[in-house]
Amino acid sequence: MAPILLALSLLLQFLVILPTISGWPVSDAADTFDFLLSRDLISAIQGSLKSTAAASVLRQQINKYSRAIDEVAGLGSDLPVSKRAAAACKIADLIFPGRVFAANDPEYQSEEDFNWSQTCWLPAACFIQLRTTADVAAALKVIRHVGTKFAVRSGGHNPNSGFGSIGDSGVLLDLHGLDTLSLSDDGILHAGPGITWGKAYDFLDPHGITVIGGRHYTVGLPGFLLGGGMTFFPNLYGLGTDSVKSYEVVLANSTIIDANAHENADLWRALKGGGSNFGIVTRFDIETHPLHNVQYSLNLYDPSDYVNILYATTQVQKAMETDSNIGFFLNVNPTVIIAGLLYADWPTVPPSAFNAFDSLKSFWGPFIPTTNGTIATLTSAINIGDFPAKREPYAASTKVDHALYVDVHERYLELLKTDMPSANLSYTIQPVAKAAVQAGEYRGGNSLGLEKVSQSWWAPLVEWFDDSTDIAAHKALNDLGNSVQSFAQKRGKALNYQFMNDGSYTQKILDSYGTRQVDTLKKVAKKYDPTGVFQTLQNDGFLLRRL
Ligand SMILES: Cc1cc2nc3c(=O)[nH]c(=O)nc-3n(C[C@H](O)[C@H](O)[C@H](O)COP(=O)(O)OP(=O)(O)OC[C@H]3O[C@@H](n4cnc5c(N)ncnc54)[C@H](O)[C@@H]3O)c2cc1C
Repeated sequence: MAPILLALSLLLQFLVILPTISGWPVSDAADTFDFLLSRDLISAIQGSLKSTAAASVLRQQINKYSRAIDEVAGLGSDLPVSKRAAAACKIADLIFPGRVFAANDPEYQSEEDFNWSQTCWLPAACFIQLRTTADVAAALKVIRHVGTKFAVRSGGHNPNSGFGSIGDSGVLLDLHGLDTLSLSDDGILHAGPGITWGKAYDFLDPHGITVIGGRHYTVGLPGFLLGGGMTFFPNLYGLGTDSVKSYEVVLANSTIIDANAHENADLWRALKGGGSNFGIVTRFDIETHPLHNVQYSLNLYDPSDYVNILYATTQVQKAMETDSNIGFFLNVNPTVIIAGLLYADWPTVPPSAFNAFDSLKSFWGPFIPTTNGTIATLTSAINIGDFPAKREPYAASTKVDHALYVDVHERYLELLKTDMPSANLSYTIQPVAKAAVQAGEYRGGNSLGLEKVSQSWWAPLVEWFDDSTDIAAHKALNDLGNSVQSFAQKRGKALNYQFMNDGSYTQKILDSYGTRQVDTLKKVAKKYDPTGVFQTLQNDGFLLRRL
C-alpha cells in the first residue's frame, strides 16, 4: 500500500506544480493533466486502494482532479515520431524526479551497460527507474499518450538486442527497483520483477523450501518465468512458469489486474510461456516446494571422448523417465565438456543413474565435487560471475537419440574450424522428461504446446569480444542450430518446440508452440491489449507481431 500512496502523492504534487513550471505552455499542461490522471488510471489506482482513512482522503483528491481532467479532455497530443521519446522523457522526469536518466546524467552509462550481453548495451532516449506498480501504470500512461517506443528490462539477461534494451529513439523502463520479496503463511512467495533467482533462493533457504527457478544467480524472474523456465529438476514440479499461482499485471491502459486460476484465468495461462505480449508483470506469486536437500557435482571431461559422453547422457535421460529426482545438463565447449549430475535428495550412495558417467575414462576431475547442499548453495556454487561479452543464443528441441547427438557434435567440430577470433561456440543439452510436461498440465497448463515425450532442449550459444567476429559468430551459431533441427528431421527425431528463454531473434519462437496455442495467445492479447500497445510500441521481443 505504502508505495502506491507514495506514487500517487508524487502524481498529485506534480499536478499542483504543473501550471507554474516555467517554459511549459498552458496547453501542454492541460494535455499532461489529461494523460497523467485520465479515467482508466484513476480507476486502476482506486481499485488498488483499500479502505484506510488515508486512502479515503486520497480518493477524494483523485475525484477532484478527475473533474479537472474532464474539463481538459480531448486535447490529444500529436507529436511527430522523432520527438516522442524526448517528450516522454521530459514528462517522466517531472513524475519521477531523480529517476530518469538521459545521456548527460552520470547514471546513464551504468544503465546502458546493465544487460548481461554487450549486444544489448544500447543507448535510450532515457532510462526510467520505476519502483512500484503505480509507477509502472503511470509510465505506461505517458508512453501510450505520447506514442513513443519503449522496452521493459528487469534482470537484463536476455541476450537478444532490442528486447530488454532499445536505442535512442525510445525509452527504457527499468524495473529492477521493484524488488519486494515476501513469503505468506500459505507458502506463496511474492516477488517483484526486480528479484533475481539467487536472491529468491537465499531468502527461502532458511525456511527449508525453494521455488522452481533459474540455475544462474543473477537471472531475473520475469524473462525466465514468461518464457517457461528450465530449472534444475524440471521433472518434479514442472517448469518455472508452472508454479506461478498469480501474476499482478499492468495492462496497456494502465489498469492493474491479477491473473490466476480464478481471475482472468485466460491471461494467467497465456503468461505461462507467452512472453511479454500482454502487459508488464509487477508481481509474481509463486508456489514454494519442500525441495531443499540437493546432491550435486559438476564434472569435467575430455571432449575427444564425445561419443561415450553423449551415450552416457542418453542413459541418464532414460533414467530420468522413472526417477524425477534426477537433474542433469551437459555443457559442451571446444576444450572441455561439463556434466551437471544432480539429485533432489542426499543419497548415501551415488544414484545408479550416473553410473554411465562414473565409468568414463575421459573424466578429468570435478569442477564442483559431490556436495550435499541446497538449491541456494548449488546456485551460488555455479555462480562464476558475469563477464562482458557479446552473445547470441539459439533454441532447438529433439527427441533423445545417441546417433543424432553424435551427428550434431560432429557438425559442431566442423564449425569450430571457422575463423572466429575471440569466439567461444558451445552448446548445452537440457533434458525434459514426460513427467515435466505432466506436472505442467497438473498445475493448470501453460502456453508452450509441449509434446509428452522424453526430449532434449538444445541451447547453442556463441560468445565473442571482437566486432570483426560479429558475422562469423552469427553464421556459425545459426549453422549449429539449424543442424540440430535438420539432423533430427533426417533421423525422425524432430520436435517443433523452441524454448523462448534460449531463443534467438532470428527464430519464430511462438510459431513453434503450434497453431492452437498461437490462436489462443492472439485472442488473449486482443482482449487485454485491444489497441495493440505491446505489439506496436514495444520495441522488440518474441511478440505476436512476428508471426
Ligand atoms: C547466465 C544465464 C543463465 C541462464 N539460465 C537459465 C536457466 O537456467 N533456465 C532458463 O530457463 N533460462 C535461463 N537463462 C535465460 C533467461 O531465462 C532469459 O534470458 C530471460 O529472458 C532473462 O530474464 P530477465 O528478466 O533477466 O531478462 P530481461 O532482459 O530483463 O527481460 C527478458 C524479456 O522479458 C521482458 N520483460 C522483462 N521484464 C518484464 C516484465 N516485468 N513484464 C513483462 N515483460 C518483461 C523484456 O522486455 C525482455 O523481452 C539464462 C540466461 C543467462 C544469461
